[in-house]
Amino acid sequence: MTNIRSLLIANRGEIACRIMRTARRMGIATVAVHSDADADAPHVRMADRAVRIGGALPAESYLNAAAVIEAVRKAGADAVHPGYGFLSENAAFAEACAAAGLTFVGPPAAAIQAMGDKARAKRLMSEAGVPVVPGYEGEDQSPETLAREAERIGYPVLIKAAAGGGGRGMRRVERAGDFAAALESARREAQNAFGDASVLIEKLITDARHIEIQVFADRHGNTIHLGERDCSAQRRHQKIVEEAPSPFVTPALRLAMGADAVRAAKAVGYEGAGTVEFIVADDGTYHFLEMNTRLQVEHPVTEMVTGFDLVEWQLRVAGGERLPVGQDDVGLTGHAIEARLYAEDPYDGFRPQSGRILRWRPADGDGIRIDSGVAEGGVVTPFYDPMIAKVIAHGADRAEAIARLVAALRATSVVGIATNREFLIDLLASEAFGAGEMTTGLIDRWIAEEAGILDAPRPTALDFALAAVAVTMRDGGSWFRSSGRAHCPITLALGDERRETVVHFERGRLAGVSVGGEEIVVERASLRADRLEFAVDGVTRRVGVLFAGRDVHLDRDGKVLVFHEPDPLVRPPAPKDPRRIVAPVSGVVRAVGVVAGQAVKAGGMVAMVEAMKMENALYAAIDGVVTAIHVAEGAQVAAGQLIAEIEPDHG
Ligand code: ADP
Ligand code: ADP
Ligand code: MG
Repeated sequence: MTNIRSLLIANRGEIACRIMRTARRMGIATVAVHSDADADAPHVRMADRAVRIGGALPAESYLNAAAVIEAVRKAGADAVHPGYGFLSENAAFAEACAAAGLTFVGPPAAAIQAMGDKARAKRLMSEAGVPVVPGYEGEDQSPETLAREAERIGYPVLIKAAAGGGGRGMRRVERAGDFAAALESARREAQNAFGDASVLIEKLITDARHIEIQVFADRHGNTIHLGERDCSAQRRHQKIVEEAPSPFVTPALRLAMGADAVRAAKAVGYEGAGTVEFIVADDGTYHFLEMNTRLQVEHPVTEMVTGFDLVEWQLRVAGGERLPVGQDDVGLTGHAIEARLYAEDPYDGFRPQSGRILRWRPADGDGIRIDSGVAEGGVVTPFYDPMIAKVIAHGADRAEAIARLVAALRATSVVGIATNREFLIDLLASEAFGAGEMTTGLIDRWIAEEAGILDAPRPTALDFALAAVAVTMRDGGSWFRSSGRAHCPITLALGDERRETVVHFERGRLAGVSVGGEEIVVERASLRADRLEFAVDGVTRRVGVLFAGRDVHLDRDGKVLVFHEPDPLVRPPAPKDPRRIVAPVSGVVRAVGVVAGQAVKAGGMVAMVEAMKMENALYAAIDGVVTAIHVAEGAQVAAGQLIAEIEPDHG
């Protein structure tokens, strides 16, 4: 038993929820902290107690160490789990916890500090006999010295922020002529992101894999590893898909890398969960990149192949217990793959998205685990990391894990906000990924070679037909009670595509749909709750359907299409000032479709005002960013009252 009775989780989203699940199972009381933007978030609702710690900006709340420690005192917790990101690798915070008599669920502050600076960490690792990437990690930061060192190392090189993380502050330089400019921009980004402009220079290892080793240490001198994770599937140095074990790693390589990772942990007096990251070349030679002194985003794949609960281990070890198993007890069963589901639009430069999640139905099934931190009806705000869930699949082998993961992504319904779900499905189903020959450059190459991968999904005529059928069924389906022949005309638009559709009925039975003149045979259809079941050519299938105002969302095979039904009666009045969205009539605000900070496109719905049982949708007249929202859903508004403001895009 651990001696922790009440645990405060200094984090949010999926990781806060995931930590609470284990704490609860162990009989430990849970305390959530939250910012103003998260007052109603799932991690807050899940906790036994919750404490507000500040404003929406991370600096005011989740990064505010003093506010977190004050919350611990108020709620009466005796331990703090920092999760990942935020304060997790902040040595001063770990120290402040100790000074306040609290258990910090993580390594000693000295170990965080030793590994926090990439340059210092590499020097330490070299001394401990762990192979590091050849490069320069000296104190002299003058541009002349750095340029000379880059020359000595040999191009191409990588400039890295010493304090870096999350792939930021990194510049690849191909030739000496580009070095000065790249250095300047790397230093600027490092200063802005980490408050520290110092850099190191490394040999760029091309066609390499990112393979990391999960280590665990207790206070009694036991340090073991739990095998590797392959995180080579990256975009812009950021992980998207991770798996265990690595298709590349042989038992001999695992033994060698595991031993070096344990050596690295021991060299800094490590305790708890940590990850030692290596870059592995084609020929199997590997070099230390950095150590992350915390629980990692991708830890679930290790849990699925080892059968251990790493958060439980963290809590036990932090409470002074010994590791529950020795190195020889660690076995790997089957294969696990994780995909990071982001609220971002791959078809618009992977732009982070914010807005309301109208539907969230995570899949389940054999070997499927979904760690999420969002709820149906919840809002994704622009303030935090846009990762909304991790979808993880375990299978007997890699092929089964891939198949299960693709199926789970297809079956997970997320509507109302654009995500990278379809992009993940395309990637996982690609030949390149299936072959297991991932290197860190593979995704970028795949995107470049695979024409159309980043083109927004185009609706087919059948998609239009299904949306039209759904509309005829939406309000009880009176068309289906018509006698004789009936034809229901519906105009639908999606982006710049617009189709006149007509749904045909014969004595109350669906008799096909014409889409812009093309006849689509839909033999049968029925709408149950949120699903449209339909038959084409004798095969019955299903699509998810969601109505929101005059929008129809279709969720079909992993992609979501949002059709809009322009209202022939209520024409959106042309606003006098396109930056101001005002109520056209007095009524009640039934929906607000945007959040402050969100980007909108001309024609996108901003809000809906209901008056005399008529819905009046208010649309943006320009492309821009919502700077303010002045009403809440349910509010009574007068005609002409200001509802939202939009700052137009320039350039
Ligand atoms: P992992 O190796 O666990 O995937 P990442 O590097 O992707 O770790 O980072 C995990 C989380 O921590 C992400 O949300 C990332 O944005 C955040 N993060 C990582 N390093 C920093 C940092 N130095 N400052 C702020 N956030 C960070
Ligand atoms: P971060 O703290 O941002 O996670 P890392 O040092 O772990 O920074 O590097 C992030 C990613 O950048 C790695 O996973 C790898 O894909 C790539 N990378 C880092 N160093 C090198 C290198 N020397 N050669 C090639 N790729 C590298
Ligand atoms: Mg890293």
